[in-house]
Amino acid sequence: MSLFDYTTPKRDNVFDLVIPRHEFFHGATDQLTGGRDNPNCLSDLVAAGLAEGWSDIFALAVNVLDNPTITRDTATPFAPYVAGTPSGLRTFPYTSDMAMNPSTYSIAGTQEYQEVHMIGEVWASMLRKVYYVPQVVGKTP
Ligand SMILES: [Zn+2]
Repeated sequence: MSLFDYTTPKRDNVFDLVIPRHEFFHGATDQLTGGRDNPNCLSDLVAAGLAEGWSDIFALAVNVLDNPTITRDTATPFAPYVAGTPSGLRTFPYTSDMAMNPSTYSIAGTQEYQEVHMIGEVWASMLRKVYYVPQVVGKTP
């Protein structure tokens, strides 16, 4: 783990639990995707973006287990502590509310989104909309 230099003084990213969880899930998805004979299959732009999105959404999903009041409509910024801002490290908070997070697959092809974390934001936003259903987090619909 490391110190993030978005703030002065720098902040240790282990105090924002989504960061170590995000990195843990990189390890899991990198090892599990492609099998033992193809461990680098998440290396091109789009595949690496998928990996970033998986790591974001799995890290946030663990937070749902910690706090069952979080729903898919809850605006959840990613790592606001290390970013030093309430909006966090990503462009939009993760939520199914399109007014707060307008990410759709169509923007993944734009010039602005040709970076792995930006593609990951789109992928994680889509996963957030389908994953955070009441049944998954143990609530009755
Ligand atoms: Zn990552």
